Amino acid sequence: MTINDKHVMSMSEKTARRWLAERGVTMEHIAELVLFLQKKYHPNLTVEECKENIERVLKKREVQNAIITGIQLDILAEKGLLEEPLQSIISTDESLYGVDETLALGIINVYGSIGFTNYGYIDKEKPGILQYLNDKSHGKVHTFLDDIVGAIAAAASSRLAHRAAQTE
Ligand SMILES: [Mg+2]
Repeated sequence: MTINDKHVMSMSEKTARRWLAERGVTMEHIAELVLFLQKKYHPNLTVEECKENIERVLKKREVQNAIITGIQLDILAEKGLLEEPLQSIISTDESLYGVDETLALGIINVYGSIGFTNYGYIDKEKPGILQYLNDKSHGKVHTFLDDIVGAIAAAASSRLAHRAAQTE
């Protein structure tokens, strides 16, 4: 890895983290989702352990790329800056669009197939921050962000589960 590569990576990571925060998603919110997913398997799991696993997920470049791509599209749609038909599709979170879920798969994939089950479950239940992100009444566009946040939590849960299995 050259210094230049490193610089590009840290720029993506910084942007991904900053945009998550600016769009109202904190580490605590994501940790809460990981706890929701893992509590019944690991009753002693702490928020700190959840955050550690989220940190590791956020270090992956494919995760950073998915985050900045999805949030960028949400922001452009919110400002009315996309071309049709994308502008209408993304700003109304059209249910048959599906590219938001496809992008999220890139995040889930980083720790293997167990992530799919976690993601499916959390997407159906919509606990915590996911409920806010799915609430269309506040005028924000979170078409991509809800799937991204669910996927980060699912990937962090998978990492946690893999590591727990290895130490048992
Ligand atoms: Mg969505």
